[in-house]
Amino acid sequence: MKIYADVAVLACPGYQAHDVEVKIRKLFELLGQKEFPPQLLLKPNMLSARLPEEAVTTHPVILAALGKIIPGRLYAGDCPPSAGKNPGKYWETCGYRDIADSAGIKLVTLEGESTIRTITVSRKNASFPVSNVVLNLPVLNLPKLKTHNVTVLTAAMKNTYGFIPGYPKSLLHAKFPEPESFNAFLVEFYRAVRDRIFFNLVDAVEIMEGNGPAHGIKRQFGYLIAGKDALTVDVVCARLLGFDINDIPFLRIYKEKYGIPDFRILGDNPEPLENFNSPPASLLIKTLRNPLLAGLLSILGKRFAIIPVLEEAKCKKCMACIRVCPQKAISDDLKINRKKCINCLCCYEVCPEGAIKAVKSKIAKFFV
Ligand code: SF4
Ligand code: SF4
Repeated sequence: MKIYADVAVLACPGYQAHDVEVKIRKLFELLGQKEFPPQLLLKPNMLSARLPEEAVTTHPVILAALGKIIPGRLYAGDCPPSAGKNPGKYWETCGYRDIADSAGIKLVTLEGESTIRTITVSRKNASFPVSNVVLNLPVLNLPKLKTHNVTVLTAAMKNTYGFIPGYPKSLLHAKFPEPESFNAFLVEFYRAVRDRIFFNLVDAVEIMEGNGPAHGIKRQFGYLIAGKDALTVDVVCARLLGFDINDIPFLRIYKEKYGIPDFRILGDNPEPLENFNSPPASLLIKTLRNPLLAGLLSILGKRFAIIPVLEEAKCKKCMACIRVCPQKAISDDLKINRKKCINCLCCYEVCPEGAIKAVKSKIAKFFV
């Protein structure tokens, strides 16, 4: 399959509906995208039931603009790990319900029927379900640009992880518990599903830095970033945040194994953001690659990690963390069993109250 790797970047200072629509039309034009399939699935990042202004989820104005621009039938869907088959509260809080009604977009859950796919990652077979909605409709991938405590960055490639229905997403963390093995899985997973992607459009108007992807700090960036190849879109996102691509584990693994295609940056060519606040995982992952420390740190295993810590005072006892945990490591009275816990941080991501913090373990604090 030929991959068209060029990436287009346009300044978009806010979420004013008309401006967003104009910029998206221009991005399609820059990338030569004149025709659209008769039906498309819009796949936002709907990680959690959070308000658009919290910069956790893809802004609804982008979906509304696509409803005006694209002539065909549009669907929009995702499957947050703790939402189950009833994501109604998510659609409402994220602002998708309102725009779907006015823009004629049909909301669908990716939690329903699925097809099992199997890939090989580091000589280990991994089977997972892929939503049949994704397999039946070309996908317009709509990620939110954020930091992430396992992958360092989440943008176009990581957003495809949502093609897997809810709880199996968490179970794959148990199969690939270390950040390096999970990032290697992400590379192969992306390659297995990338033919489903019609186009990628990253919401980088307001982004998240620090403790992403759920509880970091919102920061104004003011760009929309688009391309047909999620890999090169992510390379551009990483560079614009000031990262070397070797600092983003899934990009480094992809580069070493398959290479990065040549591409051009069209439209605006902004300077990288200054003083971008990386997630805590970023320094740990860099330290793990230090040849002088790697042996010792691999012996320490999961004691050298970012770990979840539950703050009871903030907890509203919704039990989402218990439901999402792939290791059944959280008891009914909300205590985390450290022996069972693999530090996947799925609980931290789904907690709607910010009652679970992602912090360095004592040993990680000592080394980093
Ligand atoms: S307690 Fe949290 S971090 Fe630990 S395994 Fe469960 S979901 Fe993952
Ligand atoms: S820690 Fe968060 S996710 Fe878990 S029960 Fe409390 S509020 Fe819900």
